[in-house]
Amino acid sequence: MCRENLGSLRSVADRLVVIGGDAAGMTAATNARRGRPDLEIVVLEKGPHTSYSACGIPYVVSGAVGSLDDLIVRTPQEFRDGFRIDVRTRHEARSIDLDARRIEVRALDHERTLHIGFDLLHIATGARPLRPDLPGIYGPGRSAFDRLRAGTAHRIALPGQVFSRVHVEDIALGVLAAFDAPPGAYNLADDEPCHQNAVIEHAAHLLRLPHPPLQTLEEAALSPMARAFYAENRRVANGKAKRVLGWRPRHPTYREGLRAILAAEQSEQAS
Ligand SMILES: Cc1cc2nc3c(=O)[nH]c(=O)nc-3n(C[C@H](O)[C@H](O)[C@H](O)COP(=O)(O)OP(=O)(O)OC[C@H]3O[C@@H](n4cnc5c(N)ncnc54)[C@H](O)[C@@H]3O)c2cc1C
Repeated sequence: MCRENLGSLRSVADRLVVIGGDAAGMTAATNARRGRPDLEIVVLEKGPHTSYSACGIPYVVSGAVGSLDDLIVRTPQEFRDGFRIDVRTRHEARSIDLDARRIEVRALDHERTLHIGFDLLHIATGARPLRPDLPGIYGPGRSAFDRLRAGTAHRIALPGQVFSRVHVEDIALGVLAAFDAPPGAYNLADDEPCHQNAVIEHAAHLLRLPHPPLQTLEEAALSPMARAFYAENRRVANGKAKRVLGWRPRHPTYREGLRAILAAEQSEQAS
């Protein structure tokens, strides 16, 4: 049988095509074989291996496992022999025509394009991460209020220092909005980068506490981590997250964020 003709030849059995031959794909394929001995099963894997343990890569790097080959749990041939699964490594699915139930496949080693028909389709091509680029995170239990109450809040005489921040709830909303978004880096920050003193002063005002004294960096004797914070300006633009994710910070500035934290604390105390 010529592989290019697979799309036009319809056998009596249904054909399941699985795209992706690692953990999810091969689990689906072997489970399908157990449940449906009659099924014709084709797995398309663009890489050279099936069922390799990505989780084991750190052990290869550390030397605890000798080579990457030792991470392969089952080879394509083992799937062919043991499960009657037609595994095609170095075959990349390029597009799927759901109406025609046909996949365009690139045979990478032969630089040829072929088409494969399917009755059932399982896509197991893995996931790509979205990396939220997060500036100073604050929220209930971690904010200027806690530092003021603990007597560890500082006001530093460093004119022009500006930093972005984001309320933890807005991170959660950003992550939810990103589930359906194209992969990429999105900045989740509020709309008003500002001097840290402004946040401390506003929090003190809400708590009806005096402002901490204005100090130089040396006088404040900050930890190396806190000093690093004051060593740079970080003004983070959130335009892409708004444009692409449709995300809007529920707490557009530290003022809304601090008010929300205080309101949550008060309602918790009242209940
Ligand atoms: C370094 C590292 C350490 C990890 N440690 C752990 C751990 O300790 N515990 C844990 O639970 N998880 C761990 N994981 C995560 C785990 O490896 C993944 O969750 C798992 O591999 C996901 O399996 P998957 O089949 O969904 O996707 P993947 O493993 O990403 O497999 C998808 C497959 O689809 C193929 N593919 C993609 N597109 C196409 C296409 N168009 N055509 C054909 N083939 C295609 C890819 O080549 C790939 O082989 C770790 C991952 C890494 C990288």
